[in-house]
Amino acid sequence: MKKILVTGGAGFIGSHLCERLLNEGHEVICLDNYFTGTKQNIIHLLKNPYFELVRHDITMPYYIEVDEIYNLACPASPIHYQYNAIKTIKTSVMGSINMLGLAKRIKAKILQASTSEVYGDPEIHPQTEDYWGNCNPIGPRSCYDEGKRCAESLFINYHQQNNVRIKIARIFNTYGPKMSMNDGRVVSNFIVQALKNENITIFGDGKQTRSFQYVDDLIEALIRLMNTDDNITMPINIGNPEEYTMLGLAHKIIDLTGSKSKISYLPPPEDDPVQRQPDISLAKKLLNHWEPKTQLKDGLIKTIEYFKNELKL
Ligand code: NAD
Ligand code: UDP
Repeated sequence: MKKILVTGGAGFIGSHLCERLLNEGHEVICLDNYFTGTKQNIIHLLKNPYFELVRHDITMPYYIEVDEIYNLACPASPIHYQYNAIKTIKTSVMGSINMLGLAKRIKAKILQASTSEVYGDPEIHPQTEDYWGNCNPIGPRSCYDEGKRCAESLFINYHQQNNVRIKIARIFNTYGPKMSMNDGRVVSNFIVQALKNENITIFGDGKQTRSFQYVDDLIEALIRLMNTDDNITMPINIGNPEEYTMLGLAHKIIDLTGSKSKISYLPPPEDDPVQRQPDISLAKKLLNHWEPKTQLKDGLIKTIEYFKNELKL
């Protein structure tokens, strides 16, 4: 049994991770400031004596003795990370420094939830880990992109200078139950709009692409990554390479919900990446033949069920 700290544990991905780690018999400390996460996401875990919930902001130091740290704290949806851009940068940079300092002192292994956004609006396709990215350092997404890029740099430098055992997961668009209804990301937006028979809001012409990974596949990969040998310190793409246009996604969701929604086109957000698809060769090689198992249709059906319950339909 390991003692594991999950920052951002009350969020979408963090709550799934806490649950899985508890099910594997570990002791889990979930730390969150509830900016985008909710107690509701982890309320069912509170009766487990091996689960602890801490309200804390990672921009402040935190002291605890644990074996492993999963650093997930950071708003992930554009509307939330742009709401207070400076705070988003502080969370990625000061938060990472605090968690890396903790890992260094207590000799814990630490995993960073990085992102495909480090590739910005990519000029190569699909994206491999050796691509340095195409980010606008002063654009509206920069608080997130550049914050996460700086966090990667901090991780690698704490490893090289202080021998901290690090892991970096570059996570591609992930969806599933427990995404917040007003999160603003495309899958939750489209499903909620379809279930309410409201217009489906496509930003731009809908030809931009994303590759969507179901949350269970991600959690499996994160745990495998944490358990790799200490010499595995390079960033690793974690995602599902099946790529869809936003228009294609909208039609799929309309079909699966049997919705009467129509599509409405809105102006594209500034610096919206045109295409995104992970090359996951490295993950397959290093994570014991890991690959995503959930087809988009199956994952969407589970997510639609979740939102139906949330909407009491
Ligand atoms: P989320 O917004 O649901 O969860 C983030 C959690 O972090 C929330 O519970 C929030 O309250 C908490 N948090 C934010 N700032 C904090 C702070 N300063 N101190 C303590 N807690 C704080 O988002 P998510 O989708 O679960 O994403 C989790 C992580 O994975 C994030 O780091 C995100 O950047 C990364 N990621 C997610 C995706 C995705 O598609 N969901 C893709 C790439 C990377
Ligand atoms: N998007 C959209 N309608 C929405 C929300 C998002 O067309 O209601 C588009 C958005 O412009 C982007 C894609 O869907 O091209 C994915 O957006 P999301 O915010 O989910 O993720 P990210 O852009 O961070 O990959």
